[in-house]
Amino acid sequence: MKSSHRSILAVLAGTTTVLSAQQPLGEAVQQQTHTKLEEIIISSPLLSFHRNIVEIPSISESEKNVGEYIIDFLHSQNLTVEKQIIPGTGKENEKERFNVYVYTGENRYPDILLTSHIDTVPPYIPYSLHSPFRRSGAFNREDLVIAGRGSVDAKGSVAAIIFAALETLNENPNASLGLLFDVGEEQSGAGMRHFSDSDLNLTPPTYHTIIFGEPTELSLVAGHKGGIRFKVIANGKAAHSGYPWLGKSAISAILPVLQHLEELEDIGFEDGGLISSELFGKSTLNIGLLSGGLAANVVPAYAEATVSVRLAGGSTNDTRRIIQRAVDRFTGGDGSVVVDFGDLEGGAAPQYLDVDVDGFDVITVNYGTDVSSLDIHDEGIKKVKRYLYGPGSIHVAHGDNEAITVGELEEAVEGYKRLISAALEKYPR
Ligand SMILES: [Zn+2]
Repeated sequence: MKSSHRSILAVLAGTTTVLSAQQPLGEAVQQQTHTKLEEIIISSPLLSFHRNIVEIPSISESEKNVGEYIIDFLHSQNLTVEKQIIPGTGKENEKERFNVYVYTGENRYPDILLTSHIDTVPPYIPYSLHSPFRRSGAFNREDLVIAGRGSVDAKGSVAAIIFAALETLNENPNASLGLLFDVGEEQSGAGMRHFSDSDLNLTPPTYHTIIFGEPTELSLVAGHKGGIRFKVIANGKAAHSGYPWLGKSAISAILPVLQHLEELEDIGFEDGGLISSELFGKSTLNIGLLSGGLAANVVPAYAEATVSVRLAGGSTNDTRRIIQRAVDRFTGGDGSVVVDFGDLEGGAAPQYLDVDVDGFDVITVNYGTDVSSLDIHDEGIKKVKRYLYGPGSIHVAHGDNEAITVGELEEAVEGYKRLISAALEKYPR
């Protein structure tokens, strides 16, 4: 927002709420519009709840306050709420971390589970309202834009899930629904992994359907790519830069290897390249971090890069083998550059999700979610249905322009309700 109206409005409104305008407007019209925007939020329990949770910062590892707020709200709706404490890691100044697990009465093992995450990426960006209005100040309610960190990812999903569940229970108090709001999705999946290993995730599974909330632009997701991370490490020998032949540059060694790894995207699997698939297209590789050397006049003895691959097919071990082989072949296995996969259990294979509910567009996405952190123990028995759906676009989700419209949030409530009722119909009690 680079409009000069920001300062005028800040004075007018005395809040962080701002309006964006293509055309200058009279102050009276601006004030009126501002009041209208506020009224839209205040008059809607969904939009008010969404505002309240977006206004509470909850960057990963600091989810406590928003978790407490959600617990209080759900208590007030006469739901049973459990705090699922995540054991600490012993880090200094660690805050209490917990998942929020919710159900009706004593139905601790409901048939249908809806879940999303309550942590966000940094930095915190305050809540604000923006209206794409015309000269007259008129605008469509559903086009009202709500900006702020988490407004999309994933507090848009959290709010829509809660209101879809409340409306469903209002119409059908016997609907067997549970809600799980977990922490740490943006970082390590700690919350979902804790749930996965807990007594709430039994063998065989007690739930038959699980609906994950993430920004999918209101489409059902047929699947998402998997991912692995690894380090590429070069060891050289330090020397005075005036006598480089006395040393061995780790940076000169690592650069061509990294370039070769980038090319694996476009090389066929048969020729040693990364795996592609019809559903997801190419696996892609990103060199996200690169460091090495000490000073301009020292031949660098050490360099390392951190690399991630988004997997379009195969297992995590398949891709690790491809990377290992490519580096071995390129360097002739001389040990000048090596790959460190660290925790070999890490990473996730591509995930395939259900899309068998009519009336939704179907897409695939390239980002990871909690889906891969939840082990569902349904081997050899009827598969648990897994859906991935939510309001807002991933393209703004981690950006400084994260924002969602009123229309998207309200449509998501309807979308979740349709997914719930399809699940209730498929598995009548
Ligand atoms: Zn997310």
